[in-house]
Amino acid sequence: MTYPAATGGPRPAPEAAPASAEERSAVIDLEAIRHNVRRIAAVASPAQVMAVVKADAYGHGAVPVARAALSAGAGWLGVAHISEALTLRAAGIEAPLLAWLHTPESDFAAAVAAGIDIGCSGWELPRIVAAARALERPARVHLKADTGLGRNGATRDAWDGLVGEAMDYQDQGLLRVVGIFSHLAVADEPERPETDAQLEAFREILAVARDAGVDPQVRHLANTPATLSRPDTHFDLVRVGLGLYGLSPFEGQSSEELGLRPAMTVRTVVSHCKDVPAGQGVSYGLNYRTDAASTLGLIPLGYADGVPRIATGGPVRVEGVNYPVVGRIAMDQMVIDLGPLHVSAGGHTVLGAEAVLFGSGADGGPTAEDWARAAGTNNYEIVTRISPRVPRRYINEEPTASGAAHTSAGLRP
Ligand SMILES: *Cc1c(COP(=O)(O)O)cnc(C)c1O
Repeated sequence: MTYPAATGGPRPAPEAAPASAEERSAVIDLEAIRHNVRRIAAVASPAQVMAVVKADAYGHGAVPVARAALSAGAGWLGVAHISEALTLRAAGIEAPLLAWLHTPESDFAAAVAAGIDIGCSGWELPRIVAAARALERPARVHLKADTGLGRNGATRDAWDGLVGEAMDYQDQGLLRVVGIFSHLAVADEPERPETDAQLEAFREILAVARDAGVDPQVRHLANTPATLSRPDTHFDLVRVGLGLYGLSPFEGQSSEELGLRPAMTVRTVVSHCKDVPAGQGVSYGLNYRTDAASTLGLIPLGYADGVPRIATGGPVRVEGVNYPVVGRIAMDQMVIDLGPLHVSAGGHTVLGAEAVLFGSGADGGPTAEDWARAAGTNNYEIVTRISPRVPRRYINEEPTASGAAHTSAGLRP
């Protein structure tokens, strides 16, 4: 029996086709990031700025955002996981870099080897020291106190012991206590008294550390809301996430009022536009029906792209008008009711027109806060959950001579 001659062996698997950033994208304005860093640095001065780029820079892209933030004057970077810090180091970023959320599975040796600063609440200390010993390289440690948030950090009762142990190891050359820090619980509600209590507790744990001979390079407590509203929490360094992305942490205060510029615009193009009769049901469950003959626009973004399924009513801007999403948000798509455009009679169609979910908010455009309201969540979650299916597109990657932003072609102002 004969077989046909082989014609070249197995074929290589085809490359995955790249998603088109024209079809849908999260456009990240790096000049907005730089502007926000400069604004925050001015508010925080003389304290330094740590740009918090955890969770892929709240969905904006950790490496490009870290580079932009450093170029605009941030002196430090912060992330939650050691693995996130290693990604930044692998991209060639050498700046001081702190990771603060660990498990017994975390790779402390990799962190020490990469010169990553390690937040330490207590249980991590022997593991950090073991890594330092094995590598014959002192670890850089920031001791964390729980001053009231009830998450990470050493309790007041455990603090003296942690400080004493860390100083013993420092004397042995196994680590250096670079920082002392804590995290605030209610700084986004400036009228609440608990921030004062946390500040007082922080001053107390600093005094204990000082009395034990600790001389940290940086003491840090403030997040974005505290940086903007409580100068007495700045100490040597502020850890800013949300503000870096141009978003407001305060209920009744906009980005613009804080001098910040939202950096992310989520946009796509209308993928279908058609006339329907009165009483047309829309999307799963038929929870919405047109009350008159109308025209529907199909928006090709859904919960797989990070649009919260619960956020029916969230705004989509098409040709200068904000339309609420009607009916259920599905995995890939959602619908807006445009009113009668008479497309079938040769009227105006919006097929292919740009559809903006949120962006800078300029000229009445929709914002991440609008979507947060529709979803019953905060703006942090809206930007952070935009999924990898939405390509990130970067504009204004290099500072312009004037420092002013320009807008690339393809993105409507
Ligand atoms: C996420 C985080 C921050 C940044 O908080 P924002 O409110 O986004 O500025 C600061 N510190 C710690 C410990 C964090 O986990």
